[in-house]
Amino acid sequence: MKSILPDPDFILWTGDDTPHVPNEDLGEEKVLSIMANLTQIIKVVFPNTKVYPALGNHDYHPKSQLPAGENYIYNQTAEMWKQWLDPQSHSLFRMGGYYTEKLLNRAGYRIMVLNTNLYYDQNKVTENMPDPADQFAWMDKTLTDAANQKEKVYIVGHIPPGFFEKKRNKMWFRPNFNVRYLELIQKHHAVIIGQFFGHHHTDCFRMVYSPEGSPISALFLTPGVTPWKTTLPGVVDGANNPGIRIFEYDTDSLLIQDMVTYYLNLTYANVARARWEKEYRLTETFLVPDASPASMHRVLERMEQESCMLQKYYQYNSVSYDRSVCDAECRLDHVCATREIDEVAYGKCVNEAAPTTGLLVTLLPAFAAMLSTIWPRL
Ligand SMILES: [Zn+2]
Repeated sequence: MKSILPDPDFILWTGDDTPHVPNEDLGEEKVLSIMANLTQIIKVVFPNTKVYPALGNHDYHPKSQLPAGENYIYNQTAEMWKQWLDPQSHSLFRMGGYYTEKLLNRAGYRIMVLNTNLYYDQNKVTENMPDPADQFAWMDKTLTDAANQKEKVYIVGHIPPGFFEKKRNKMWFRPNFNVRYLELIQKHHAVIIGQFFGHHHTDCFRMVYSPEGSPISALFLTPGVTPWKTTLPGVVDGANNPGIRIFEYDTDSLLIQDMVTYYLNLTYANVARARWEKEYRLTETFLVPDASPASMHRVLERMEQESCMLQKYYQYNSVSYDRSVCDAECRLDHVCATREIDEVAYGKCVNEAAPTTGLLVTLLPAFAAMLSTIWPRL
């Protein structure tokens, strides 16, 4: 990160800092010491940069069981991150693992860092709570206040709402929490200028639309630094190269103008040497003027309608690890997950397209057969 951009305005650290191993191999102290090591490295490398850290589901022991109230790990993490948090953020973080403050201390600009692990369907301790740690009520109030103060807001979190694009019908949040999150974004979209998440390890985005169908918000899911191969059953070879991302934004409007992803090609590293290089720039690759919701909607349309764009998107989705062809089923998974965060709308998207998909699946082997027949003659 330092050699790519030595002096960023700020850093969004979207969590999951510990190895994804069984609980028995970790423990509270190990989790905390790993997080402390990483915190220390970032402080040494970027001593003067403001960092906005968020908790991931692996930044707790036992993993994913983040509680809705004060506890040892939130307290210890708040101490670890004290240098980066305003005093108010520090005390709020201890209670629920979330906080808000003025972005870079500037009037009119706000950052809101969420603990969306409270909504994760693997989290048993928040399962029957209507509003764990009162975070939804707090979001509603914070965004209402922001509108009254004429502020613009960035939202940061670890687990995103909506569906995983590499596995059909895999939603992360519990359904009621997914509904509530989406309602809040639709209600307050006018002040929300960007949403940034992690968790997937893949590179993708999510759209939010108004009831009339206009694009009103985009969520950016930045790929992981670690080359995790997912253990979710049904995902074939779901791995990624390590990636990091630079967002370029208008410092007055906070609108995201562009994003550039850098990556480490593990295949190349294993035969030659480790080398971080530019993977792609959004506007160049997908031919859009910026990363506004309207432009991201255009990217989604291109993925859906232009096979070369779908293929580019699909390669970057795994941080250029998976270079295979995204077929009709794959296209449906990715397009519906990108377009629909809502459970009902997603279900409709994947099911309504089924007849077309059936046809495409039938045609594809025919083309493959044609190619293999023609090839020997060439
Ligand atoms: Zn995660």
